[in-house]
Amino acid sequence: MAKLVRKNYLMAPGPTPVPIDLLLEGAKDTIHHRTPQYLEIQSTALENLKYLFQTKNNVYTLAASGTGVMEAAVANLISPGDTAIAVNGGKFGERWCELCKAYDANLVEIDIEWGKYVRVEQIKKALEEHPETKAVFTTISETSTGVVHPIKEIAEIVKETDAVLVVDAISGMLAEPLKMDDWNIDVVVTGVQKGFMMPPGVAMIALSDKAMKVVENSNNRRYYFDLRAYKKSFPDSPYTPPVNLVYQLAKATESLKEETIENVWERHRILAEATRAAIKAMNLELFAERPGNVLTAIKVPHNVNGEGIVKFLRDEWGVTFAGGQSQLKGKIIRIAHLGYMSKFDVIIAVSALEMAFNKFGFEVELGKGVKAAEEVFMKEGV
Ligand SMILES: *Cc1c(COP(=O)(O)O)cnc(C)c1O
Repeated sequence: MAKLVRKNYLMAPGPTPVPIDLLLEGAKDTIHHRTPQYLEIQSTALENLKYLFQTKNNVYTLAASGTGVMEAAVANLISPGDTAIAVNGGKFGERWCELCKAYDANLVEIDIEWGKYVRVEQIKKALEEHPETKAVFTTISETSTGVVHPIKEIAEIVKETDAVLVVDAISGMLAEPLKMDDWNIDVVVTGVQKGFMMPPGVAMIALSDKAMKVVENSNNRRYYFDLRAYKKSFPDSPYTPPVNLVYQLAKATESLKEETIENVWERHRILAEATRAAIKAMNLELFAERPGNVLTAIKVPHNVNGEGIVKFLRDEWGVTFAGGQSQLKGKIIRIAHLGYMSKFDVIIAVSALEMAFNKFGFEVELGKGVKAAEEVFMKEGV
C-alpha cells in the first residue's frame, strides 16, 4: 500500500496553531525590558488588549499559563475565610473550586452536571443565601465540555450585590461575544495560547474599580502575583516580562484590532455553525447543552472506542483533536475551531472524522458532513 505524506493539523482547544508571521515576530532580537524601546512595544499590546477586552480598565500581563492568572485572581480577591461562589460544570470550573480551597475560602460550590450550563437562578439563590460573598467565579466557555455559560445575565445579578464577578475567558475570549464594561464584569482573565493565535506563556487580567478595591483591602499572602505591584508599575512590568512573547502579543493584538472585535466573533461563529451542521449531518450528537464557538464536543457512539479514535487520528493521520477529560474520558471528542482556523480547516476536521469513524466501526456516509459544512459556508458567503 502506498504511503501518503503526513501533515499535522492542530485542532485541539489550546494550544492552537500559530501563524508563521507571528512565530517570526518572536524570533527578533531580545532587547532589555527597562528601555523606552521595549516599553513602547508593551504599551501597544496593552492598549490593544483594552479594546479586545472591551474595557477602559488596565489589562495586566503576567508570565504564566492560564491557570497562573486564575490563581492571581483568587489570591488577590480572597482572604482566608471569605465566602466565594464557584460554578463547577467541568474541568475548569472545578479548577476555580480547587483554587478557592487552596486559598482557604469558604467555598459555595454550584455543581452542574458536566455538559449543562448554569442557570441564572442558581447564582441568584446562592447570593441570597450568602450575602457575605466576596466573589463569584465563573467560566464563559467551559473548554472541557464545550458549554457556554450565560455570563451577561449572570453579571446583571452580581452587579446588584457587593460581590465581584470573575470570568475565566481563557478559551472564550475572541470566540464568544464578551463586553467587560458594558456587561458589568468585574474581573476577566485570559491567556494567549487559544484565540490569540500565540504560543503559550502570557496570561492577562483586567479588573474593575470595584474589584481593585477588594484587591487592595485583601489581607491574603501573595508575592509574584500581587496585582498591587502590577498596578504600581503599569504600563511597565514589576519583574522581567517575557520580552519576545510581548513582541508577538503586540503584533497579534494589532491585527485582531484591525480586523475589529465584531468580525473576530463573527468568524468564530461561522466556523462553529459549520462544524455543528456537519456533526448533525453525520448522525452524531452534540455533547453541550449550550454549545459555543470555541469548540464542538461530540458524543462518542456506544460501540466506538473514543480514546482509540482520538489517538489514531493524532498518531496515524496527524489530526489532533482533544478527547474527554476526567469523567468524560473516552466519552467525547472535542474539535476546536479557535484562533488561526479557516473554513478549510473545518473541512479537514470533518473529513478526518468521517473517515476515522468508518474505520472504527461507526458507519458514516462519506462526504455527508463535509457537504453540510460547505453549505453553511456558501450560505454565509465566506
Ligand atoms: C486552557 C484553559 C485554562 C488554562 O489552562 P492552562 O493550561 O493553565 O493555560 C483555564 N480555563 C479554561 C476555560 C481553559 O480553556
